[in-house]
Amino acid sequence: MGRVFFTNAMLLDGENAPQSNMTVVVSGNRITAVARDSEAPRPESEDQVIPVGGRTLMPGMSTNHFHPSYIDIMYPIEVDMRHPPAYMAYVAAKNAKIALMSGFTSAIGAGSPHNIDVSLRDAINTGLLEGPRLTACSVDMSTSGDMLDHHPYWFQVQSEGLARICDGPEDFRKSVRQFIKTGVDIIKIYTTAGHGWPGKNPPLTMSFEEQKMVVETAHQREVKVRSHTCTELGIIVAADAGVNIIDHGDELTDRAIEAMLKAESFLCPSIHVLVASEMRRRAGAQLEKEFQWVERAFPQWCEMLPKAQKAGVRILAGDDYGALGLPHGSYANEVEYFVTLGLSPLEAIKTVTRNAADAMDKLDDLGTIAAGKLADILVVNGDVLADVKILQDSNALDVIMKDGAFVVNHLAQDLAASSRANAA
Ligand SMILES: [Zn+2]
Repeated sequence: MGRVFFTNAMLLDGENAPQSNMTVVVSGNRITAVARDSEAPRPESEDQVIPVGGRTLMPGMSTNHFHPSYIDIMYPIEVDMRHPPAYMAYVAAKNAKIALMSGFTSAIGAGSPHNIDVSLRDAINTGLLEGPRLTACSVDMSTSGDMLDHHPYWFQVQSEGLARICDGPEDFRKSVRQFIKTGVDIIKIYTTAGHGWPGKNPPLTMSFEEQKMVVETAHQREVKVRSHTCTELGIIVAADAGVNIIDHGDELTDRAIEAMLKAESFLCPSIHVLVASEMRRRAGAQLEKEFQWVERAFPQWCEMLPKAQKAGVRILAGDDYGALGLPHGSYANEVEYFVTLGLSPLEAIKTVTRNAADAMDKLDDLGTIAAGKLADILVVNGDVLADVKILQDSNALDVIMKDGAFVVNHLAQDLAASSRANAA
């Protein structure tokens, strides 16, 4: 099979400032050359040439707090008490396809009821289903009496659904090993309850020793750990235990940033509700009582998020899509929201490209456009860096390529239409 030549591209490689008049060559499932048009290798007769016409060519995106089986959820009990596991797996299959068609060629799971992620990942990898490269997450792990231990005790629910409840380091060690046996790539724990802005000040729901045991057990077998962590103390304890991804991190302080830097932890803040609510407030809406924390939290995030990024904390985009009114497919909104909070457009784009690959130790294969990497590529009709909102418009995604194969290729249709017009 011939190669694919994308020519005359505005290259946004995920690392550097954009470069115009660039050629990217794909052979099989890998990028084999990235060069100026004038210096690029020449196509042979069997190669396919796609003139990109100055559009942006960039890495496929990754959404990094992915709950594919979530649909229309407002309360935790709806995660696992409303639909049987098989139905939830169908929801996950549908959302995986939505993610891919929205330009997300990768996703990192963030807690998977009934361990659906593992089967979803395998079904995608064997070609049974269409979806992103999925880093499969475990069932959420928490402790007795935590917010995830939410089934009324007199129900005596036997299915673990949303959460595996463990108490004590040995209990966690055994469960982590059992999840690893099922094939997970990342373990999800709950260091604290809560999410939103501190005030309720949720206590630690896992001890340091329990978290350390989870991390050691997972890392011994090259599995990552992420934690739902909301307070300053929670961030520090989770980072000190070696957690790879801090989710939410509402109470981001200088000390919390320091702990994350020391542990080389990533931060996945999930700021969708925060920024969307602040935008509503600025447009004159009176925020509902449960969202009034936003008024205090927004300026804090504007100060602390750029501070964390400049200090060297790698930020990831991802939120609870499928819950809290966030529709699946709208993951790219966060890139805009990170810019609203003060990241540069390039840094905001890294939260869905380079940083995501880095978080999964896949930077050799993914996250940027460079020779030798896997060909997960988007061609976007517009100047993405000038207006990151374009990424939210799936009609602007002229090409979605995953693993060297076209998922979407509107440019080929344009070419066919123009050659028909020329022939007529
Ligand atoms: Zn979540």
